[in-house]
Amino acid sequence: MEIQPNLPGQIWKERKMPRLDGQKVVDSFISAATIWAPSGFEKPMAEKMLADFRQMNLPGVTAQTDDAGPVAGSEVGNVIIDIPAHPDAPKDAKSIVLSCHLDRVPVRAPGVPEDEPVVIEQEKDGTLHSKGFRTNIAADDRAGYTAIKEGIRAIHLGGIPHGRIKVIGFVREEPGLFGARALDPKHLEGMDYGFELDGGKVGNVIRNSAGIQRFKATITGQSAPAIHASKGKSALSAAMAAGMQISNLELQPGQTLNLSNIQSGQIGEDGAPITNQVPDSAFLAGEFRARNAEDEAAMRSHVEQTFQEIQDRHGVQVQAEYDTIQGFQLADHSPVVKLAEVATQASGSKPKVMGMMGGTNANCMNAKGLPTVVLGSGAYLQHTEREWTSRNELIRATQVVMSVIAAAAHPAVTAALLAPTQ
Ligand SMILES: [Zn+2]
Repeated sequence: MEIQPNLPGQIWKERKMPRLDGQKVVDSFISAATIWAPSGFEKPMAEKMLADFRQMNLPGVTAQTDDAGPVAGSEVGNVIIDIPAHPDAPKDAKSIVLSCHLDRVPVRAPGVPEDEPVVIEQEKDGTLHSKGFRTNIAADDRAGYTAIKEGIRAIHLGGIPHGRIKVIGFVREEPGLFGARALDPKHLEGMDYGFELDGGKVGNVIRNSAGIQRFKATITGQSAPAIHASKGKSALSAAMAAGMQISNLELQPGQTLNLSNIQSGQIGEDGAPITNQVPDSAFLAGEFRARNAEDEAAMRSHVEQTFQEIQDRHGVQVQAEYDTIQGFQLADHSPVVKLAEVATQASGSKPKVMGMMGGTNANCMNAKGLPTVVLGSGAYLQHTEREWTSRNELIRATQVVMSVIAAAAHPAVTAALLAPTQ
């Protein structure tokens, strides 16, 4: 069944969605964005999230951290808030996961002391950025956190029927989605759809993301004095040849390849390179991404084959390791994409369904079996001291979240979603 064109307007009107107090949303954002919690050290942000949701007095709510901390490499686990369905919710209301990440990239302009607090300035036009552009403001991903928190608060205070909602704040997202990777899939059991709020324009609905494979290779050769270089087996030459051969792969649209590290050779005690020895060890690393599984497999075999050939040709040992983050591809007409689209439209923003090359927690949730899209949360120039968001973007992102919650429990939407076109 197709979603009727008048449906988006119907949801917002019928549910009598409340108006947001813009300054409250901004203040809520600032209270989260000024917390310094780099990857692995998310405890202050995790404690804030637990406190924020406990203070809302949501009936039947549980708020706790999981035990993923040590596996994810963080001092704290992922925060999981479980909110039971509203008593007035229709029986077929969908259970949804709303998620974001709790870590921030620790960006400071040159010369800014480590312990200088983050100060956020609001311009007359509502733009929010670091005062004097001294640090990033972690709109990535505190804008996502704010949208979820304020969206749920508005729905709760407005008495709007909703299905079961799980909110997950993931740790250590930035260095490689470690919190989401370490999430026990049992936490996603019984949930229907996931929505990760993270970066980008409000209105973006990301329905596919590239698979990412990182590779690193340790190459072992054989040392020899430079005057008998031909008797040695240069690990450096082998690494260079491998790097060249890997780089020579002709890329198709939707593929990226980056050689990131090559290390070899020795430096003497005087700080000068030792040039009279053939280096017997080298290290090579990089990553590639592909939008679809076939391309990913082809790229992987190109890298594997290269290492094999280099080993044979140069007489060295290559020890290669791969670290894989699965991509995801959700169809345009899949229920979670439709739900995100209709909800975004209902909130007054223009939905843009698209793909991306970057990895997010949605990769992991899809890999664990929960169909999940990424929703833009209004964070721009992320990972720089020029990072910004705005009052308007924060409000619109919050309205998208409110809308997703309401739409997932609206009979006209669930009826349409239960019978997706194949
Ligand atoms: Zn992010």
